[in-house]
Amino acid sequence: GEISLAFQPIVHSGTLEIAGFEALMRWKHPRRGEVQPSEFIAIAERSDLIVELGNHALELAMRQLMDWDVQLPDARLFLSVNVSSQQVMMRDFANTLSGMKARFTSRRHKLRLEITETVLMQNPEHNSRILQKVKELGIGLAMDDFGPGYSSLAYLSYFPFDTIKIDRSFVQNIGKDTNSLSIVETIIRLGRSLRMKVVAEGVETELELTALARTGCDEIQGFLVGRPVKIEQRRFGLADMV
Ligand code: C2E
Ligand code: CA
Ligand code: CA
Repeated sequence: GEISLAFQPIVHSGTLEIAGFEALMRWKHPRRGEVQPSEFIAIAERSDLIVELGNHALELAMRQLMDWDVQLPDARLFLSVNVSSQQVMMRDFANTLSGMKARFTSRRHKLRLEITETVLMQNPEHNSRILQKVKELGIGLAMDDFGPGYSSLAYLSYFPFDTIKIDRSFVQNIGKDTNSLSIVETIIRLGRSLRMKVVAEGVETELELTALARTGCDEIQGFLVGRPVKIEQRRFGLADMV
């Protein structure tokens, strides 16, 4: 009961209307207080714990989607959940997900998984089959932190991603150096020609937003638009933001 999710809005770049949210794990330790994911996720990744923790986050997220069915009967949102490649590589990941979907099904809202480039390439055939099954469940697949990794492009050709999330490090240099701007523009064009959605994360300034929208980036996430919030921090819940 110490683990919960915070939700950060992701908006359409043209209208700034909310398209969905990213779910970010929070740990409220009885003595240490709030522990940040930058501290505990890396440690959990070094053991099997990340699988249990990550599946717990998935279950919380799916319950949230069902709540939205009631609270937001007219909206169509996605909820994007981070999954570790260790979770994906567990033999029964697709079954775990379809089991969860059988218990918690949302009629209107969609689940999206965010996966960072790490070790999926160690067994590409196997992992690509798993992700294909996940996709067949109607779940979106986003490649998180796209750009700085050495095999980012290979990931796009091997795995059935439908969304690219441009890494924050490029976004935050848009106004500072022209190379970063060119790289971001090229990623957006690449995404469009692959018919993928492109999301920019870590957007903090109007200048970044304008440059991204002009180049045709589909969705925007960052402190400029909204910080991650826990449901209990908001008196009226996320429904009022939508
Ligand atoms: P991430 O997936 O890249 O998530 C985005 C992180 O950037 C979040 O940090 C968010 O609070 C932060 N952020 C959002 N907008 C801005 C901005 O405009 N500027 C800056 N400087 N930062 C921004 P957070 O919540 O501390 O999460 C850190 C990382 O922990 C996440 O990075 C993700 O890799 C991991 N994580 C979080 N929840 C989960 C989870 O449920 N499962 C797994 N496997 N990993 C998770
Ligand atoms: Ca993410
Ligand atoms: Ca990210």
